[in-house]
Amino acid sequence: MKMESTLKEYFGFSTFRPYQKEIIEKILEGRDCLVVMATGSGKSLCYQVPPLISNKTAIVISPLISLMQDQVMALKQRGIKAEHLSTAQTNTNAQKNAESGQYDILYMTPEKACFVPNSFWSRLLATGICLVAVDEAHCISEWGHDFRVEYKQLYKLRDVLQNVPFVGLTATATEKVRKDITDSLKMKDPHIAIGSFDRKNLYYGVKSINRGPLFVNELVAQISKYATNGGSTIVYCTTVKDVQEITASLCGAGIKAGMYHGQMANKAREQSHRSFIRDEVDVMVATIAFGMGIDKPDIRHVIHYGCPKSLESYYQESGRCGRDGVASDCWLYFSRADFGKAEFYCGEASSATQKKAIMDSFMAAQRYCMQTTCRRKILLEYFGETFASSNCGNCDNCTNAKEESDMSREAFLLMGCIQACGGYWGLNLPIDVLRGSRAKKITENQFDNLPFHGLGKDFSVNWWKSLGFQLISFGYLVETVKDTYRTVSVGPEGAKFLRSCRPDHQPPLLLPITS
Ligand code: ADP
Ligand code: ZN
Repeated sequence: MKMESTLKEYFGFSTFRPYQKEIIEKILEGRDCLVVMATGSGKSLCYQVPPLISNKTAIVISPLISLMQDQVMALKQRGIKAEHLSTAQTNTNAQKNAESGQYDILYMTPEKACFVPNSFWSRLLATGICLVAVDEAHCISEWGHDFRVEYKQLYKLRDVLQNVPFVGLTATATEKVRKDITDSLKMKDPHIAIGSFDRKNLYYGVKSINRGPLFVNELVAQISKYATNGGSTIVYCTTVKDVQEITASLCGAGIKAGMYHGQMANKAREQSHRSFIRDEVDVMVATIAFGMGIDKPDIRHVIHYGCPKSLESYYQESGRCGRDGVASDCWLYFSRADFGKAEFYCGEASSATQKKAIMDSFMAAQRYCMQTTCRRKILLEYFGETFASSNCGNCDNCTNAKEESDMSREAFLLMGCIQACGGYWGLNLPIDVLRGSRAKKITENQFDNLPFHGLGKDFSVNWWKSLGFQLISFGYLVETVKDTYRTVSVGPEGAKFLRSCRPDHQPPLLLPITS
């Protein structure tokens, strides 16, 4: 009852959400916990309630000072004694107060937590520490999409605070990342709570586009329609240049749009953020710098203009819409050129492991773009959750019934041609061969002498590409990334198909073809 009354007294809620109560109970028992729950599911409460019940301080490690400030302010308004400490502060009062146990909840940056002297911890331990929460815990893992070196140092804290329960919280974690979190924090038999990642009210859609003015017009038309329906929209772009161009086009079309990116001055960014929260603009066009700490409940649409760098970040960014549970849309527009960005993303890597992790994540995002099966199932299974149905009824692939047709002949031509060309090109060259091109690269390699040359004239380049993507997504063709160059070759499944393809005995290969 104490738990419910505390929840009511400080937060005004009468019931706990799924998992919250059991997590709080485990923490109060002194057990380490790993909490993996979707954005908006109420993770913060899990570490905010225990200090109010136990009368001991909760330490919360959080990556962003602005985020900590927001949370501290919100907690103070609820009558909870909260403060934050970072290495940037010169005011030592807060640290002194903290040390003597005057706060219920103390936020710290990871640097600060590793930097304060052991005497700080021993004094605070004497008055009581009920938990150490590591928020955005995926930042610990090089396999995560947001690795931070400072997070890696947090194991030191574990050594100082041996008997204090550690709680790792994250909205996105694959199996590997989960293990990294529990290992790095040296968790002892942690209680693991994994909520469902299924955001039922979100519609997922993907569209392949050609970048350029035509598409921008289409985007403007779509957003105008959304803007009149109420609610906010975020358009995530992959570059600052795109942010500027899209913002200009939207404003030119009379849509109230603001922008946010890392090259803007702090003040301008804050102002932009504020005007979005206060509904002074309907649309925020932003890079992913616009992210953590957006707690606006009525974002109705999140549009990605360009393939995101990972499915983790896609899930997190798109997950900012529909926090209030109302039906909302997540659209991803990609162009084939986006897939050449691997090099750019790998530039952030500081080790070979990390480079591979970035590459794998990016490939998963590319697959998401190209697959023709249920988007929700793809997303959930990526995060290790089983989704029994193959039709969620709330994504483009499930709602746009695609007619399947027998593509055996065309698949035979494309896969055969890819094999005949040696299997070390991208999709473009074999398609050009099929379409009878005599470009230099083709004649030089004598691909114009192949029996496949010119057999695919009846279909456009894009048509063949679309078939190629399908064959990749169904595993007939295998895409390999070497450095930043992508090659496509016939995989075992495709080879089996080619072998069984005699003129009199063809197993039909049914594929949904859209373009
Ligand atoms: P997360 O950290 O998982 O993204 P938050 O902790 O920010 O989620 O919570 C999301 C929203 O849900 C907040 O507005 C919070 O006040 C609300 N919330 C959390 N727990 C409850 C509860 N038990 N009952 C009602 N609302 C809740
Ligand atoms: Zn679906």
